[in-house]
Amino acid sequence: MPLRASDLLTLTREGLYCPLGRFHVDPTHPVERALITHGHADHARAGHGTVLATPETLRIMAVRYGEGFCATRQEARLGERMRIGDVTVFFAPAGHVRGSAQIAIERAGQRIVVSGDYKRAPDPTCLPFEVVPCDVFITEATFGLPVFRHPDTRGEVRKLIESVTLFPERAHVVGAYALGKAQRVMALLREEGWDRPIFLHGAMEKLTDLYKREGVPLGETPKVAASERKDLHGAIVLCPPSSIQDLWSRKFPDPVTAFASGWMRVRARARQKGVELPLVISDHSDWPDLCRTISDTGAEEVWVTHGQEDALVHWCGTQGIRAEPLHLLGYGDDGEAEPDPGQEPHMEEASA
Ligand SMILES: [Zn+2]
Ligand SMILES: [Zn+2]
Repeated sequence: MPLRASDLLTLTREGLYCPLGRFHVDPTHPVERALITHGHADHARAGHGTVLATPETLRIMAVRYGEGFCATRQEARLGERMRIGDVTVFFAPAGHVRGSAQIAIERAGQRIVVSGDYKRAPDPTCLPFEVVPCDVFITEATFGLPVFRHPDTRGEVRKLIESVTLFPERAHVVGAYALGKAQRVMALLREEGWDRPIFLHGAMEKLTDLYKREGVPLGETPKVAASERKDLHGAIVLCPPSSIQDLWSRKFPDPVTAFASGWMRVRARARQKGVELPLVISDHSDWPDLCRTISDTGAEEVWVTHGQEDALVHWCGTQGIRAEPLHLLGYGDDGEAEPDPGQEPHMEEASA
């Protein structure tokens, strides 16, 4: 009897499980052996036995949770095949945040790819997404509606620089998630020629330092807490999204509030959050890239998770691809999850 996809991967209470390899992928609860796609809190949790992930993701987890975040660490080298139980596994870049990877699981000529979160847009802080041909592709759907088309990030970053030129006395306080988005915004600012210091909220420091240690050039990033008010006129300041409206941001001279997120494409959302300068910068794929990627993999079957599954499942149907939603509770907390209209503050939490 041929192997079925469900023999390679099934859904358990802890999340995706490979019975033939006896491991979980991005489990939501502590397990014996976890394979982790990337360091966002909804995918990478503390308390597992063995964790297999890219060296970057392992270091990110150590920074966030402490060195004892798991019992044993195992490094996954991109593209290197590893035998685990009765399956073969390899990691490939996902282009989402530093260290992020897709995980391919193979057995008897059948390949299933868990992409984790991914994007195709360029990001100077991580390796670009690599298409891995497969039989079954598990895709996210954070921005899985045709209305979501992310603009070129250069234009978004220039808007920020232009605003500083226009209002040289005002501090520009930019909300950005602490892992990935903040460092990407800094790197993009540098690419656009911003060579002045970029001031950081304390919550951004550790991960930014890690990126720097790993060789991502982010320039001078002084702490706000150690800076004088006079230095903050016309300054660009990065902070967790929840801080843009709280008392913390009020200590700046006449602040312009900005927020870097794919959700800033929705004007009402920006207004509602009191964001003066919305910057549409997303670490997730927009609709055209989700569709393109599914086609590129050549998968005959697609499982859709992480947000707006329905439209993408329907689109797959129009392409003759079998698809079904995969409801994984607990995912989508990395800052760009679809905010539930009933509990709007959700999108501000989970700064990481
Ligand atoms: Zn993520
Ligand atoms: Zn996620």
